[in-house]
Amino acid sequence: MKGKLVLLGTSSGIPTKERNTTAVYLQFLGKGFLFDCGEGTQRQIFKADLNITKIDYMLLTHLHGDHVLGAPGLIQTLDFHGKNKLKIFGTPTTSQKIDCLLKGSIYNKEIQLQIKEIPPPATVTKIYEEKDFFINSISMNHVIDCIGYSFQEKDRKVYNKDLIQRLNLKKQDFIQLETQGFVTKNSKTIKKEDVTTLKKGFKFTFITDTYETDNIIKLAKDSDILVIESTYFDEDDKAKEYKHLTLKYILKIYPELNCKKIVLTHFSRKYASLDIFKKEIQMRNLDNIYLGYDFFSIQF
Ligand SMILES: [Zn+2]
Ligand SMILES: [Zn+2]
Repeated sequence: MKGKLVLLGTSSGIPTKERNTTAVYLQFLGKGFLFDCGEGTQRQIFKADLNITKIDYMLLTHLHGDHVLGAPGLIQTLDFHGKNKLKIFGTPTTSQKIDCLLKGSIYNKEIQLQIKEIPPPATVTKIYEEKDFFINSISMNHVIDCIGYSFQEKDRKVYNKDLIQRLNLKKQDFIQLETQGFVTKNSKTIKKEDVTTLKKGFKFTFITDTYETDNIIKLAKDSDILVIESTYFDEDDKAKEYKHLTLKYILKIYPELNCKKIVLTHFSRKYASLDIFKKEIQMRNLDNIYLGYDFFSIQF
């Protein structure tokens, strides 16, 4: 197993008996990424048997309560465990809002919060990068500033085992291939690209809350996993007024998304059951669209 993705909350607006408000935990490359942090997220993390102290990054889509009210409690717990820093990404005024939330209780903050505010980008924009991954973002179409995130592992060159054996390459040869890009064996020159293939990096996209926009396809295209809101079933359900997505719209753009797995979340509490969603998806034989629920997880 390389990584794990767990949905910690799948309700929109307020929590229900079955569903908490939004949060998604991505564990990958030895790091923990928390996308949104609805109230009660830290308890969901414990229930899911995930390690809370492994969270190094918190990525907030927007500043509505159902996406951020869990942040102060979670930050205090990280501090309690001696974690010394947390990187937080969010829309403009995130820093001020987090500060207000933290000042709502008496507590001596020691953890260093590195908050990066991102004015919603008009085009897909790289907002953060490390050695083996980067994060892209683009503006969504909600009632307040809102952004989507795409986590992308960098593509890397991997050695072709069969070729390595056939050419009898040894440790010393690999060192030369890595440093000089070629090696000479039996008076033949072998270039690194002759013995390697490009392995596409893992891509995860998180989109909530938004009404219809072409930016969804721009950001999410070709993802391995897309977690996307489907608050409503179809347009009659005030999707335009409250600026949310419908299952019908997601099905309309499905071919263009070209994602390996699509997980729906942020369901309106007006649906006591998601049977109509289920039937619609089954009718079209789309077996890579999943109806998310709390603790739904994918290992990859
Ligand atoms: Zn919401
Ligand atoms: Zn919202």
